[in-house]
Amino acid sequence: MFKNFKNIEKVVFGRGSLSTLQAIIEPHRKENKQYFVYIIDNYFNGKNLVQQLPLKPEDVLFFEDVDKHEPTTQQVDELRDKILKGKGLPSGVIGIGGGSIMDIAKAVSLMLTNEGSSTQYQGLNLIKQPGVYHLGIPTISGTGAECSSTAVLTGPIKKLGLKCEWTVFNQIILDPELIATVPQDWWFYTGMDTYIHCIESENGTLNNAFSHAYAEQALSLCREVYLNENSGRSADNDDKLMVASLMGGLSLSYSEVGVCHALSYGLSKILDYRHCYANCVAFQHLEDIYGQGVQEFKQMLHKHDIQLPTGISAKWSDETLTQMAEVAYNLPHMWHQAFGENWKEKVDLTYIKNLYKRL
Ligand code: NAD
Ligand code: ZN
Repeated sequence: MFKNFKNIEKVVFGRGSLSTLQAIIEPHRKENKQYFVYIIDNYFNGKNLVQQLPLKPEDVLFFEDVDKHEPTTQQVDELRDKILKGKGLPSGVIGIGGGSIMDIAKAVSLMLTNEGSSTQYQGLNLIKQPGVYHLGIPTISGTGAECSSTAVLTGPIKKLGLKCEWTVFNQIILDPELIATVPQDWWFYTGMDTYIHCIESENGTLNNAFSHAYAEQALSLCREVYLNENSGRSADNDDKLMVASLMGGLSLSYSEVGVCHALSYGLSKILDYRHCYANCVAFQHLEDIYGQGVQEFKQMLHKHDIQLPTGISAKWSDETLTQMAEVAYNLPHMWHQAFGENWKEKVDLTYIKNLYKRL
């Protein structure tokens, strides 16, 4: 019932704060083989942002394409092997990108010091050694991956995070200028991930004054960004969205997500739906569980002219439904959050399959 959670050690916030990177990492350059690994979203390959980085000749850059699939255990293992076979243990790992890159950077930093495949460490507190220094610079806001203690990876058997205290970033730099170029649909889906985190956090049995304080504030920021009179894309709203993502994530550190996220994991694992999009696709059908939250979500969809598919489950076989329901059922902490410790009295595979049939 009590969580002794680890927060990010250091946070810089503000427009243009990317310029603080050099001073921040300089003291760490003395560590290990004295070079930094940058893991950067391939979107930024050839873009201005790379010229703004305080690169030294010895530093190594990896541009990762996150559009093909969500981060995998194989991708993380391969990056780790390349790094260690190259220059050896780096001073640190810097991730620049969205939730996918945040998770890859966190996972690589851990896998540099933990032997074997990352599949062995998918779960809670399975990592044996602290990783190397790691710093996150988010470029799209909503998942809260910048502050969470998990690095979500899809492996051959499960989609599950490497979750422990050492996963949390040592440092993050929140520069809202970096999210200005996010495509409109991703701006919506990823922002809605925060919104849904907060609705699930607020409407669950683990909610308490701590998680509520963050969720309430993050929800209010989401309304300013997506619903109120001055909603939409603007510098001011980018500032707010970046803070909302952080606060939504912090709300979860003392609470949990719920039904929508459980369904989303099934959609991602079995049908390769992307996390934030999957949440949106599922959330629209959960009005009986999340009432006002879903109504408000629909207003935001309408306001930003976002069309979500419906009627998709008609094409799914019973086998697909069962596979997705099994993935979702195996997330007991989410069902516990939604329905309490006796959740099994209400939730079984049939119940979950019926939820999927609404989609
Ligand atoms: P993402 O990182 O997958 O990126 C989405 C798209 O936006 C990509 O095409 C990317 O290239 C593009 N993009 C990113 N920044 C951009 C920019 N500034 N300008 C233009 N394009 C940009 O998106 P996401 O929604 O942030 O992350 C999803 C991932 O996060 C999933 O893998 C999910 O499992 C994970 N996740 C992790 C946690 C956690 O706590 N660790 C929580 C929720 C989700
Ligand atoms: Zn989420």
